[in-house]
Amino acid sequence: MEQRRIVHIDMDAFYASVEQRDAPSLRGRPLAVGRGEARGVVAAASYEARRFGVRSAMPSVTAKRLCPELVFVPGRFDVYRAVSAQIHDIFSRYTPLIQPLSLDEAYLDLTDHLGAYGSATLVADRIRADIHAETGLTASAGVSYNRFLAKLASDYRKPDGLFVITPAMGPDFVAALPVDAFHGIGPATARKMRALGIETGADLRTHDIETLTRHFGKAAAFYYGISRGIDHRPVVVNRERKSLGTEQTYLQDLTSETDAHMALTQIAAKLWGSLQRRDLQARTVTLKVKYADFRQITRARTLPAPVPSEEVLLQTGQTLMAPLFPFVPGVRLLGLTLSGFHAPATTQCDQMELLFRDAPDPS
Ligand SMILES: [Mg+2]
Repeated sequence: MEQRRIVHIDMDAFYASVEQRDAPSLRGRPLAVGRGEARGVVAAASYEARRFGVRSAMPSVTAKRLCPELVFVPGRFDVYRAVSAQIHDIFSRYTPLIQPLSLDEAYLDLTDHLGAYGSATLVADRIRADIHAETGLTASAGVSYNRFLAKLASDYRKPDGLFVITPAMGPDFVAALPVDAFHGIGPATARKMRALGIETGADLRTHDIETLTRHFGKAAAFYYGISRGIDHRPVVVNRERKSLGTEQTYLQDLTSETDAHMALTQIAAKLWGSLQRRDLQARTVTLKVKYADFRQITRARTLPAPVPSEEVLLQTGQTLMAPLFPFVPGVRLLGLTLSGFHAPATTQCDQMELLFRDAPDPS
């Protein structure tokens, strides 16, 4: 069987790095993206903050105790999504086989797409250089012969690093690793393994597939494989987009109808722009409202035909919002999402291309 060339690209401290990029005063400082208040949670931490033990998903109170000078900034997900689209565009210059895992990481299959570079490591380096040149941000890359090892490898030289796990290295690399560090083995499974005396990949390898099946059911085959550095999962190109949305969190809660309408106008304009850029047509408009007390509601309407214009998008959003006034308490976040897509124009282009290709040569 042919040896695959899989690359895992992972942006370094993504949200926090975007914030530091855009606000020079935040550079070099311990930074948390999230809300600093009593019940807030850290969404992402800069490397400076991580040195104090600050981690994502940690309560803000705990984070502040660990690092009193920690600076909190609210997240700007529209910006993160825009950067994510930028890096996705960069990936697509090198291979069509892209499997995004989140806004900031993806698997790429380069097996049949090495081009003139001839090596997956060179391509991974090119991609990291492109990302840095075009976004001002750093990414780490893992290169290996399957997804499991590529992901482990990208973590190995973080930040701004690249690491290769060759077929000769794979089994030993996994053998030495604690099972907690395996992507695909969660904390509960790791606990269960430890109770069975399984601490590392090497320990895992001493159990045959029947024993593993008895304890872990269907996941046994996956564990059996990865403990030997084997993972046949393909890089799966993501299925079609199901929805497209824009939302905005406000520094000051919205209370007046006028302010809410202005806010919705901006959101509709932005969403219409990204819909146009993607050549999509959608019938369902969903309004999301998050109140100051974090209660969240959504209201949706499906039109008989695709939303024809920015104006209709805004009108539909306003119609959905109208019964919600007065806003009590104030509103901290508004969002609009479009779904129920019609066939995107790109598909029509592909069909056109096929038609042309199949047509007899006129000469
Ligand atoms: Mg990352």
